[in-house]
Amino acid sequence: MRDALVATPRVTLAHLPTPLEALPRLGAALGVELYVKRDDCTGLATGGNKARKLEFLLADALAQGADTLVTKGGLQSNHVRQTAAAAARFGLGCHLVLADVVPDTDPDYAETGNLFLDRLLGATCHLAAADQREAVEAEVLAALRAEGRAPYAIPYGGSNVLGALGYVAAAVELSEQLASRGLQPDVLLHASGSSGTQAGLVVGCAGLGLEARVLGIDVNHDPGWLRGQVLELTRATATHLGVPDPSARVEVLEGYAGPGYGVPTPAMRAAVERVARAEGLLLDPVYTGKAFAALVDLVERGELAQGSTVIFVHTGGAPGLFAYRSSFR
Ligand SMILES: *Cc1c(COP(=O)(O)O)cnc(C)c1O
Repeated sequence: MRDALVATPRVTLAHLPTPLEALPRLGAALGVELYVKRDDCTGLATGGNKARKLEFLLADALAQGADTLVTKGGLQSNHVRQTAAAAARFGLGCHLVLADVVPDTDPDYAETGNLFLDRLLGATCHLAAADQREAVEAEVLAALRAEGRAPYAIPYGGSNVLGALGYVAAAVELSEQLASRGLQPDVLLHASGSSGTQAGLVVGCAGLGLEARVLGIDVNHDPGWLRGQVLELTRATATHLGVPDPSARVEVLEGYAGPGYGVPTPAMRAAVERVARAEGLLLDPVYTGKAFAALVDLVERGELAQGSTVIFVHTGGAPGLFAYRSSFR
């Protein structure tokens, strides 16, 4: 697996390895050995998990002679912000197709946070209705080609086989950190949205013989869709690397998204505040706050046994806090 991974072209965008840190106060309060894998610290325009995926996606874009990146997401997408930064780092143009997919948001939602950073990073933002994003993206791609540009389209969340390889590489990195510290985790837990992070971690852990469960917390309020996406991408990524299909290990947990993607929940608020105040660590309102709320619930219900070793994969997203200011009053 490592040879096939190393053979896939990759650029450098992220600050790696990201730290693996203990959360001793929260761990003691919950009764588990708790660690955080700091992928919020990947360094690309405030960091986050997409930087790892973009290392493989950018290499492919450059190999194809692309001069412009095109991608899509919600107004507060962390993926589009990191894509805009990656484009700037490689001197490429960047067009983003953005939709307001979250009802009843803060007045800050369409001004600050990630959207502010997208514009600061020089990306051209095209606002679209949620059900028009594919159509608007097709128009943007056609207009760029008509101008003689060479656009490269990146899927939602950077989640295809190339993007997932970023998280296979993350599993390799984490396994080395675990080995050097003599840690054998029972569980890796993370927010799962567009499937690439989870598929990569599942393939990586299986390929390395790491037995930890990989628990992906659905943040979309659409767990059936997500499970299907993760299974499909897990199989395709395993095929690319020539390793056995580990999709039997895919576990998508539901019930923590609240009424929908990006909609604040009381448990999310409580988790964001608790982690900030106990450990000085910033989570985000859309992904990691809901995933940490799931971790707390699973421990409190005994689904994660007392004394187990749990690694929370912090996938980033803190710029979104500013867009949700009124949720924390
Ligand atoms: C995109 C994102 C995720 C989900 O990762 P996927 O690979 O899309 O499932 C989790 N957390 C944050 C902060 C993200 O931006």
